[in-house]
Amino acid sequence: MLSGSGSPRRAFLAGCLAALSDSMGGRLLITTGRPEEVLPRLAAEIGADRVHVSADYGPYGQRRDGRVEKALGTVGLALVRTGSAYAVAPGRIRKSDGSPYAVFTPYFRAWAEHGWRKPAASGSQVDWIDPAAVDVPRIGAGELAAGIPDSLSLPEPGEAAGQRTWNGFLHSAVGGYDDERDRPDHPGTSRLSPYLKWGCIHPRTLLADLASSRTSGAASYRRELAFREFYADQLFHRPESLTTSIDPLIDRLEWDSGPLAEERFAAWQAGRTGYPYIDAGLRQLLVEGWIHNRARMGVASFLIKDLHLPWQRGAAHFLEHLVDGDVASNTYGWQWVAGAGALAAPFYRVFNPLGQGEKHDPEGNYVRRYVPELVGIAGRAVHRPWELPGGPPGGYPLPIVDHAAERTEALRRWGERANR
Ligand code: FAD
Repeated sequence: MLSGSGSPRRAFLAGCLAALSDSMGGRLLITTGRPEEVLPRLAAEIGADRVHVSADYGPYGQRRDGRVEKALGTVGLALVRTGSAYAVAPGRIRKSDGSPYAVFTPYFRAWAEHGWRKPAASGSQVDWIDPAAVDVPRIGAGELAAGIPDSLSLPEPGEAAGQRTWNGFLHSAVGGYDDERDRPDHPGTSRLSPYLKWGCIHPRTLLADLASSRTSGAASYRRELAFREFYADQLFHRPESLTTSIDPLIDRLEWDSGPLAEERFAAWQAGRTGYPYIDAGLRQLLVEGWIHNRARMGVASFLIKDLHLPWQRGAAHFLEHLVDGDVASNTYGWQWVAGAGALAAPFYRVFNPLGQGEKHDPEGNYVRRYVPELVGIAGRAVHRPWELPGGPPGGYPLPIVDHAAERTEALRRWGERANR
């Protein structure tokens, strides 16, 4: 189960648990095993009369908690779902006829009208048990973090680091968020996604702090938080969308396979497609476990529409490497780019890997930060290394495909969809 989480996420989680334990005087017990077996045993050991969890709305989390609830029930204990990682729990916002929203804008309106509770007050006195006195299987934070490459540079884990990151963004950058959020070369977004993912900071805290700000940046930021909640809501109502396109035509398009397709997929994974902006994004993922949102869209479009590979393969690669990997935001981010979701950009909107780079990284600083072979090329020329006399320097590849030709090919396949 742990191996399915990808090492950056496990390493960050291990750091968060260590920070949490420190904040509890070292009294955090980290146990391991099948939750439906370990939790009833642990509850019996310490004489608990109920078990509280934060509600999980993803397909796996729902199944797991259902099994735990049943197992606890057989020994007369209740599983209590106390809150969730969302301001408004998935499933709560519905149309007047009780059906879920399929389109973001009306969902967003209803979400804002529904409102949310204030952040939980902190700090009632708790009588922690002594974990050393409990006989259950254990796993150390170090074991959770095993297998992390030394080259990976992750954000500082834990609640205090999350709060510091938020305070820094709120007081210096949220006002300019509208202008800066599409610039991967600038530190214009909050980088809170790993902290939100792991519950180090709650969206209700962010929304309460944003309430006093009247800037358009604060309004846009609130909308992005609502996207996170909308996607969780969508996945809750359609668990099958984790692996299948909401628009079934997308899964029936002609997709590439065979040795050449695998070679291209490997080049994409390694950030060696020959398009500098795409490779910068893919390498940022490998070294930081995070990619700027603009670059996520660009690399996703390249996989789907230039390499003709299904979005599910890219989504799996992202989940393996993202420190903020989240099944709902990731799945719906990919479905959106693939033109597969209810709210999708249409399939025939194809991102230009060169044009995107020149627009969102106009001086080429993002590319030079992540693609060391190109560090010696000044200015925006870094986006076109194939035009240099002698070709790209430092063993950097020529483009593995011709974007104009592949765009035409993608549209041809799209045009044929009706016959499938
Ligand atoms: P900010 O711009 O500061 O936004 C603040 C918060 O709003 C984010 O932390 C996030 O919680 C939420 N948010 C912002 N944009 C989006 C969005 N488009 N969709 C959903 N929530 C959003 N986000 C994840 O948290 N986990 C994922 O696994 C993930 N996979 C993605 C895959 C693809 C193909 C795409 C296109 C997007 C994906 N996103 C994912 C959404 C988005 O890219 C990240 O949330 C964002 O880049 C995180 O950086 P930030 O915290 O600086 O964002």
